[in-house]
This record gives sequence, structure tokens and C-alpha cells, in this order.
Amino acid sequence: MSENAVCCVELQKHYQMGEVVVRALRGATFDVPRGSLVVLLGPSGSGKTTLLNLIGGLDTPTGGQVFVGDQEVSTLVEPALTEYRRETVGFIFQFFNLVPTLTARENVELVGELADNAGEATDLLERVGLGGRLDYYPTELSGGEQQRVAIARALIKRPYLLLGDEPTGNLDYETGLLVLQLIRDISDDSDLTVLMVTHNAAIGQMADIVISLRSGHVESIEENASPLPPSELKW
Ligand code: ADP
Ligand code: MG
Repeated sequence: MSENAVCCVELQKHYQMGEVVVRALRGATFDVPRGSLVVLLGPSGSGKTTLLNLIGGLDTPTGGQVFVGDQEVSTLVEPALTEYRRETVGFIFQFFNLVPTLTARENVELVGELADNAGEATDLLERVGLGGRLDYYPTELSGGEQQRVAIARALIKRPYLLLGDEPTGNLDYETGLLVLQLIRDISDDSDLTVLMVTHNAAIGQMADIVISLRSGHVESIEENASPLPPSELKW
């Protein structure tokens, strides 16, 4: 499909820190085709989280534009911005961010209740291989299992975009590969568009497209003609 899910045009984000302006993003321009799995790659401080937050509507740009589907996200203000996050974007994070007093099922249901078009928590948890852990609390789950719950939670609203900020950054190598395989499978089985941030170049090999950031600039955009299966990634 040649339709673009995300277009960023000269996107900029400056943070005023007292007298100093931090130029976290200095004019990023790129397109993300619908249904693709994209890795945003770059060293610490290169602007990856800033970029993901602008695309996800968690922050607003200083300049430039972000389009997601048929919406211009960069001009949205509350309450439209909250509505956009709630209906259009699923997020997964390095530290899972599950509610500790809720079970796996309840964590997923909580987000499902907020969305118009929600799926079934049980179905989603089965999809991520946790059909036998529905009533477990986060502390009773391994890191990999917690991230699977977080993925189910992100998917229950049937988002247009799935955004992940270092989703395997807090997992051991083997567990990280399994979570990456799950993300690859979800991408392959649906027209969901996935953007995943990492500082780990090896993870770029599983992506359809790798967008490399350096010091707030897009350094390169590379397409992988044959992405590697996550099980073959080495680091
Ligand atoms: P990455 O995710 O690639 O590590 P970030 O997007 O978090 O990079 O940060 C890019 C730059 O912007 C860094 O120099 C960081 O210190 C700065 N930065 C990020 N968020 C803020 C903020 N809320 N206030 C001030 N500076 C920030
Ligand atoms: Mg970051």
C-alpha cells in the first residue's frame, strides 16, 4: 500500500531551559507508508523520544507539521488532542507502565473502556500468549509478560498507529527477541503501522524502514528489502 500513515514535514522541537534553547529536533522530514514497521534509530539524546511524542500527540512541535492518517496532529489542541491519543494511537514503553493494583485483564480493560471501537481484553491477551495469565497482577508476571500485557493494552483500542519507545530496553536478550517477534507478527497480520524507537542498530534489521536520527536531524532513511526475522537478530 502506498498510502502514508505518517508524514512529518520540517518538524522541530525546541525546549527552553532557562537561558538555553535545547534543539531536540531540528527539522525532521519523512513519510511512513501505512502498514509498515519502522525503526527510529539513534544514539541517546538524538531526539527519538521527542519525535515519537510529537507523532503520538503527547507533546506539540515548535515548528513544522505532523500528519497521521487524514489528521494534522500538529494543529490539534485539547480536547481534540486527547481524543486523537485515545482513538488513534497505541503506546508501549520501556518500563511497561502497567497499573500495579490491576490484573492483566483489568489493565487491558481499563483502556478498552475509554475507546469507542474496543476489542475484547481476553481475546487480546490470548493473542499475545497470556491466555493463562488473565488474573495475574503485574508483580506476578515476568518483564516479558508485562510487556505483552502492555502490547495487548495498546491494541485493544484498535489503533491506527502503534508507537513503542525502547519497548525491549528493559528486557533480557531472549525475552526481547520474543517481544520483537510479537511486534513483527502483529505488523504482518494487520494494516497497523508501527514506529519503534531504539538505540540498538541490530533491531533496525527487522524493520521495513530504518530512519536514523542524529542530533535532532534525520541522518538517513533506509528500506530493508528483506527484513530479518527477529530470531536472527544479534547483539
Ligand atoms: P532520545 O530519546 O534520542 O534519547 P530525547 O528526544 O529524549 O532523545 O532528547 C533529545 C534532546 O532534547 C536531549 O538533548 C534532551 O536532553 C532534550 N530534551 C528532551 N526532553 C526535554 C525536556 N522536556 N526539556 C528539556 N530538554 C529536553
Ligand atoms: Mg528516548
